[in-house]
Amino acid sequence: MADTRQVPGPNAAAARDPIRLLLVEDDPVDAAHLREILTSVDEVKFEIEQASHVEEGLQMLRDGAFQVVLLDLSLEEGDGLDTLSRAKVAAASVPIIAMTSQGNEVQALKALRVGAQDYLVKGESEPRLVVRTVLYAVERHRILTDLALARQREHYIATHDSLTGLPNRAAFMDQLQRSIAYAARNQTQVSLLFVDVDRFKNINDSMGHQVGDELLRVVSTRLQDVVRRSDMLGRLGGDEFIVLLQDVQRDHDPARVSQKILDTLSRPCSLNGAEYRVTASVGIAVYPSDGMSADVLIKNADLAMYHAKSVGRNRYSYYAKDMDDQVATSLDMENGLRLALEHHSLLVHYQPQVHVGKGIIGAEALVRWRCPNRGMVSPATFIPMAEETGLIHPIGAWVLRTACEQAVAWQGAGRGIRVAVNVSTRQLASSSFADEVSTTLRETGLDPRRLELEITESSVLEEQGVTLGTIRLVRQLGVRVAIDDFGTGYSALSALRNLPVDALKIDRSFVSDLDSDPSVRTITTSLIDLATGLGLDVTAEGVENTGQMRFLESRGCHDMQGFLFSRPMPAEEFARQLQTPVPPWQEALSTSIE
Ligand code: C2E
Ligand code: MG
Ligand code: MG
Repeated sequence: MADTRQVPGPNAAAARDPIRLLLVEDDPVDAAHLREILTSVDEVKFEIEQASHVEEGLQMLRDGAFQVVLLDLSLEEGDGLDTLSRAKVAAASVPIIAMTSQGNEVQALKALRVGAQDYLVKGESEPRLVVRTVLYAVERHRILTDLALARQREHYIATHDSLTGLPNRAAFMDQLQRSIAYAARNQTQVSLLFVDVDRFKNINDSMGHQVGDELLRVVSTRLQDVVRRSDMLGRLGGDEFIVLLQDVQRDHDPARVSQKILDTLSRPCSLNGAEYRVTASVGIAVYPSDGMSADVLIKNADLAMYHAKSVGRNRYSYYAKDMDDQVATSLDMENGLRLALEHHSLLVHYQPQVHVGKGIIGAEALVRWRCPNRGMVSPATFIPMAEETGLIHPIGAWVLRTACEQAVAWQGAGRGIRVAVNVSTRQLASSSFADEVSTTLRETGLDPRRLELEITESSVLEEQGVTLGTIRLVRQLGVRVAIDDFGTGYSALSALRNLPVDALKIDRSFVSDLDSDPSVRTITTSLIDLATGLGLDVTAEGVENTGQMRFLESRGCHDMQGFLFSRPMPAEEFARQLQTPVPPWQEALSTSIE
């Protein structure tokens, strides 16, 4: 018997597990000889199965996971090369070693062309050569398979987003270009939906990147549920996702899918044990009407998304030609605001807060922007943009410091009053806000009891955790906290019970309708009762006439603010009013009451 124990294996480690080998051979003597050779090797174990007929062999190949096939090309049945081709079809990835009879090397070479990994010539092949050929075939195949897998993995990484597993920008652009070419040939439409999570930065800043990442995965899964299999979903980066709708038949199809996206994303989701509700804004661009190339379409869908955000978020918007101008204006505004911060063209006006019997008790600080091109810009215009871009942090810090310094100055002039400063949800969500307040108080020397922070209903109700903690810290400093625009945020009564605040400011919209709407009178009365019942102070905003003032007084609300008393004004003018023994409005009031 041939000694094959010293056969040099290509990879001893890989050869430790038995190698599953299919032997297709109809000559019992040849088969027995091969078995003997293969089973005599020490280092490698073979698990050999044998077929004597072509069809049987092919079936076994289809059914079983073989690592290598030894195929006799001179079987009685069928043509050897034809059988080889069929075997390649039956199991394309399994290496096949063709066995030819002596003197038939031409057939052997043809076999290599048809797809055999290697060949052996019966009777000429030494046992060692047989074993080595089999092992090399298996090993070469393993290397090629690993290489193919590595290439696949590399391709996957290059074309997919690692966080969500969605196609990335490059892969998406590729598909979009192909879809556009197809649509151009077939005169069909495709549509792009640019999806951007609203105030994502807020969550990332306040809850940390892990929660942010988790949220993006939730968004990705929900989008996948909405998008049809024939459409494509990708992530462009950050909180930007994009959907490609192929073959858009009806003009309202993109709107329908967008609405579905908004609906599914606004369902509550639980992250890290807390419940969140996020919304998104969607911009729609359609080929060919909104752009002929992938780049232009994406840019226009982005513009439309930007527009959806600027008109209130949680909505979709179709691209329109004049959006370029609008965005240019808005970018211009953002740059202008940055410059305003640097060049001190922001200013603070103060509006008196009065107790009808006692006179001025406080001042609300209201920021203004004196813009070289636009004139005086209202905070209602630039605060939302400052929140979106993060500029609210430096602006808010500046207003806080300016107002505190001002209050100290008034105090020095003998009129100590409280100053109220508006604080946006984004400021409150920042973990350093309480420190910022404490430092500002210390550095300006303002008594904390002379500072009130006005926060919105939504910031207390939506943000939970961090925000509530910040509010408590601020109150521990001795600072008052009031809920601004109260009544517009749909707070549940039960949520109010535990809110760590000192006062409510009844929103202007109630006060302005007191004259005309009896139901508003009922609601306002209830709001005042509610506040006093909870032990909170209550201020009415936007009081413009004596009728409103008298009604509020009669219901027990004595603190008010509004044009009836005074418009917001520069600090110097406010100081003059503070010094006037009887402010002009008090005079006017007393004459109108008489
Ligand atoms: P707000 O905090 O509710 O401030 C009251 C707004 O109502 C002010 O508008 C004020 O001028 C206006 N107002 C007061 N009395 C009357 C009245 O009798 N009738 C009418 N029609 N309006 C009255 P303003 O100054 O344009 O501020 C708008 C909003 O911008 C503020 O609403 C506040 O939410 C925000 N804001 C202002 N300054 C700041 C700031 O420094 N930081 C932040 N985060 N927001 C600010
Ligand atoms: Mg306010
Ligand atoms: Mg208000």
